[in-house]
Amino acid sequence: MPQKVLCDGCGETLYEGYEIKSPEEIYETYNGRCPKCGKKLLLIPKRVEILPARDSLRSSQ
Ligand SMILES: [Zn+2]
Repeated sequence: MPQKVLCDGCGETLYEGYEIKSPEEIYETYNGRCPKCGKKLLLIPKRVEILPARDSLRSSQ
């Protein structure tokens, strides 16, 4: 599963890919602000979805 980092303000996808990026890298990529809504990015993204498929199957049963 790819790493996915979303903006805490508007839900814009800031990064999505199989290469794991550090919060600092994502922060620097956008100069510390979301390109869509302008919200200041947190150095520690609140929403990072790394969900192995087997875990989601288990929880639905
Ligand atoms: Zn945003």
